[in-house]
Amino acid sequence: MSVQTVVMAPKGDAWEQALRQFNQAADHLPLKRGIRDFLAYPKRELTVHFPVKMDDGSVRIITGHRVHHSTVLGPTKGGIRYHPDVTLNEVRALAMWMTWKCSLVGLPYGGAKGGVTVNPKELTQNELEHLTRRYATEISILIGPEADIPAPDVGTNPQTMAWIMDTYSMHRGYSTPAVVTGKPVPIGGSLGRVEATGRGCVLTAREAARRMGLTLEGAAVVVQGYGNVGSIAASLLADIGCRVVAVSDTGGGVYNPRGLDPRKLLDHKLRTGSVKGFPDADVVTNQELLELPCDVLVPSALEGQITGDNAARIKARLIVEGANGPTTPDGDAVLADRGVVVIPDILANSGGVIVSYFEWVQGLQQFFWTEDEVNANLERILVRAFEQVWHVAEDKRVNLRNAALIRAIDRVAEALHLRGIYP
Ligand code: NAD
Repeated sequence: MSVQTVVMAPKGDAWEQALRQFNQAADHLPLKRGIRDFLAYPKRELTVHFPVKMDDGSVRIITGHRVHHSTVLGPTKGGIRYHPDVTLNEVRALAMWMTWKCSLVGLPYGGAKGGVTVNPKELTQNELEHLTRRYATEISILIGPEADIPAPDVGTNPQTMAWIMDTYSMHRGYSTPAVVTGKPVPIGGSLGRVEATGRGCVLTAREAARRMGLTLEGAAVVVQGYGNVGSIAASLLADIGCRVVAVSDTGGGVYNPRGLDPRKLLDHKLRTGSVKGFPDADVVTNQELLELPCDVLVPSALEGQITGDNAARIKARLIVEGANGPTTPDGDAVLADRGVVVIPDILANSGGVIVSYFEWVQGLQQFFWTEDEVNANLERILVRAFEQVWHVAEDKRVNLRNAALIRAIDRVAEALHLRGIYP
């Protein structure tokens, strides 16, 4: 029986997408059946239903998950997402992608992910704090600085991590900053962490563009999703001379072929809650945005945005996956046929977990680095990982996603072989 049938993966959802990607890459590796299945299965999954006291005195029952996909390479690492569409299957997919991401860039971590099915925009700060502290308590049987280290993802931020760190520390009776990463700097966060994922997108875009003969100076860039990853990628791409022509968020998109100022856009979003209504720009839908004329497309929102249905209409030559899972396998096939280069999520957005790793190391050692040290080490790791992936892609004549997954899965398989199957 395949993993697909044992751990239900309905066609089209993120978990099915992650398994299809895994299977495509695993076909290139000499893995025995049982080992291949072991690498695909999530190791453990926790679902919790818990009460949260709302400001009006009512009680709401909230559902959350924490999935550990693999502990072969070390303690598990992965963000926590607050979004109304969170499902266990989405969290499984995101946890599996974390395993491959950490493996690819050489971090001593397995993959995990957490998710809470809630719209954080509908909650007050007080309600969000109650929800976060209770969810942290519910999953505290899994998390810990040597066991499983959460970080921010969609709908969560450094403040969320501060509440989780404080809750965990209160239960232990002493401060445990290394239980989460992506914390605010004054309580043990790392310099450069907030920018790290967007910075990694820019570094990998630079590496790809050089090999493709694409000049980034003056290149037109479109960014879908204007949160932590998208807004920082846009600003840093503008800093190296790109023209950011369109961006979007859940409220819709704005487009100006002459270019938009990413920092003014962020100010506008912080003031009004959306990029919508930004002056001197045309309104576009999220679907139209993906198909706008541009050189570089940076999907930085959610999974399943570039599919078999729209991939043929995408104009970009280079796609940098700031988001996890934005391209479906059907979309990938169309893009590969058309020669569009896709820097896969597990490489393009790995800057976040790389600097999270630096934060964890700094927290355990209580010895903190300068921002220049953080950024230089990030660049060193990412450039090396990019070179390795490019080499595998040329060697095996596969796209960059397959190449990245082949390398990542192979490293976990090697570690599993060395550790052996217990008992
Ligand atoms: P965020 O919550 O800060 O921002 C998400 C943004 O996407 C928001 O602006 C939101 O309005 C927008 N959005 C949501 N749904 C959309 C849609 N359908 N169309 C257009 N925009 C939409 O989240 P983030 O941390 O920036 O994460 C974005 C993506 O990057 C996710 O896939 C996440 O898993 C991935 N990622 C994040 C990090 C990190 O360090 N934060 C690291 C690696 C990968």
